[in-house]
Formats: sequence, structure tokens, C-alpha cells
Amino acid sequence: MNNHVSVLEIDGKALEHNLNYFKNKLNEATKILAVVKAFGYGSDGVLVAEFLKNKVDYFAVAYAHEGIAIREANIKTPILVLHPQINSLKDIIAYNLEPNLYNFKILNSFLDIASKKGLKQYPIHLKFNTGLNRLGFKQSDISNINTQLKETNAIKIQSLFSHLAASEDLNEKEFSNSQLKSFSSITKEFLKLLDYKPLLHILNTSGVVNYANAQFDMVRIGLGLYGFGNDLKETKQLKNTHHLKSIVSQIHSLKKGESVGYNRAFVAKTPSRSATIPVGHADGLSRKLGNGKGYVLIHNQKANIIGNVCMDMIMVDVSAIDCSEGDEVIIFNHQEMLQHISNVSDTIVYETLTSISPRVKKMLKK
Ligand SMILES: *Cc1c(COP(=O)(O)O)cnc(C)c1O
Repeated sequence: MNNHVSVLEIDGKALEHNLNYFKNKLNEATKILAVVKAFGYGSDGVLVAEFLKNKVDYFAVAYAHEGIAIREANIKTPILVLHPQINSLKDIIAYNLEPNLYNFKILNSFLDIASKKGLKQYPIHLKFNTGLNRLGFKQSDISNINTQLKETNAIKIQSLFSHLAASEDLNEKEFSNSQLKSFSSITKEFLKLLDYKPLLHILNTSGVVNYANAQFDMVRIGLGLYGFGNDLKETKQLKNTHHLKSIVSQIHSLKKGESVGYNRAFVAKTPSRSATIPVGHADGLSRKLGNGKGYVLIHNQKANIIGNVCMDMIMVDVSAIDCSEGDEVIIFNHQEMLQHISNVSDTIVYETLTSISPRVKKMLKK
């Protein structure tokens, strides 16, 4: 049992608000796939999936074991595994997960296993590379794929999809449009070969924001569900889902000249008070937040991190804050705080969220 006092509260109402915000941008028939990979962007993929299971059409995870955890929680919603590996294909079938097959090596391995198992019409997804050059078949692979698939009844193509390289960046509009065009051309060619119609999808969160007319049959929403849009204005209309809270473990009174923490990185210039908080870089707070660059909130007042961020603790300046040992500390509870942490940590919000470590206790508040 995890009884760490540093707790990440996942705000269910905020998740639902954000989901509805994107639903309102979409055609009524457009399906929604909620991306819950990487522990639901650093929260808890199973708790998020449990909460969203009757509100979305699909889930996506990156790797098979993330999908298995969701199935083990008895959640029946279809789950797309975005980046399966050959060694996980048997588990994917055992847990009724749906693999993305992105090259001939994994397609053939899957067909091999599927025919040995006597599977019929097992749902799979085919990914096409339209310019990200990360995963996916080329348009020129279509005829070879078709030759392979014509010989078998073991699988059914549940969807054809691709991924944009710079959907958030309007300076790359021309490139994104060329990806959309290429996707249309690929799917048009492919659909002619089938007597049924798989789902088509290409948009992630910022794709929905910038290229809503390319929503096809489904969109894949990750970061937006967790409260971040393309810009400040949009983010303000979304609600923060990740709230990291802790408590004051101990307060020290410091005389002028006394130091705090490893390497004596902070030295009190005047008589001061420091509070020690049980959250550190092992919980996902970058060392870049040390030495006054990051802050927490205690009784709604900013307390700067002083000295170095330790593995298990930070110390903050509470000279001007009336607080006691045991009082609540907010590490972040708003997109602005997460953006500040990301800026200071030299990274993007995606990384700040997914850095929250498994040691932090996770709870979902409905
Ligand atoms: C992670 C991921 C998404 C979600 O992207 P967001 O920007 O978080 O909405 C969608 N599609 C694929 C293929 C992904 O890997």
C-alpha cells in the first residue's frame, strides 16, 4: 500500500469538462479515443480509464503492458496499442488489445500468430507514415499489404491512421496540410481494396484545434484531456486535472549565515524560516527548480524552493508565511504552475506530467 503523503489528485470533473470541451468542437458522429499512455500522462492510466470508460469510444496506450493493466481492472472499452513489439503480440491477443501494425515485420508476425491461433477477424490497426518518419507504412506498401491480407480471414482492419508532426505549430501549416493530403490519398487508395470501411483518424489534441476539418471518423486526445490546449487562451478554457499536494514535514528557524540543504546551496542573509516538504527529484521534480527557480503554495502564498532539490525532499522559504508542521502544500494545482515548472525545467508540459513518479500516491476525485 502506498501511503506517501505526496499525493497526485486526478480531478475527474476536470477530465469530464475537458472531454466535453473537445466534443463540442467535433461533429456529433466523430468518435473519441482517449490517450491514457504513460500512466495517463503521469497520473494513473487505470483510474483515468475507469472514469472515462463509458464516455469515450476508444483508449490508446503505447505499450501492451499498459493496456493489460486496464484490462485487469475489468475495463472492456477497445484499446489501441500504439507501439507494440513482437514479443508482446501474444499478450495483446490474450488481453483482447488491438495492435497498431506499422511495418511488414510486425504485420507478418501478427498474421503468423493469428493464423496459428485460428483467429477470425481480429481487430488490428494499420499506421501510415505521412511525414513524421517515426512509425508506419508508406503509400507504396499498400499493394503488398493487400496481397498479404487477401490470403487471410484472421484479421480485420479496424482503422487506418497516421500522426501529424507539428500539429500545434501554425508556422508548419503547409507541412501539416501536406500530411493531411497524403493521408487522404492513402486511405482513398486503400478503401478501394476493401469491402468494408475501417475508421480513419489522424488528429491529436492540437490537430483537433488547428485542423478540425480533418477529423475523419475519430480523433485521439491526450494532453487536452489533461487540461492543456495549444495556447494560453485555450488552456484557460480547460481545467487542470493533475493536482500534486504534500504537507510540511518540519520547520526550521535559521540564523543569519546558516545554510540549508546539500552543498550549503542556500545561505540565510537574514533570520529566516524554512519548511521541509516530502517531495523531491525522485517524485518527478527537476533539480532545475532548486535555488529559487521553483515555488510551491502554502496557504495560497508562494514559497520559493531554496537550495538544491533533494531526492526525497525540497526545502522552501516560509519566512513570510504563517504555517505549521503538517499544513498542506500545493506543488501544483493549475496549468500556470505546471507551465512555470516546465519552463524552468527546460521542457514541455508533456514531460513535466509524465515525470511524476510511481512513488507518488495517485487518487481520482470524482
Ligand atoms: C501520444 C499520442 C497522441 C496524443 O497526443 P496529444 O498531443 O497528447 O493529444 C495521439 N496519437 C499518437 C499516435 C500518439 O502517440
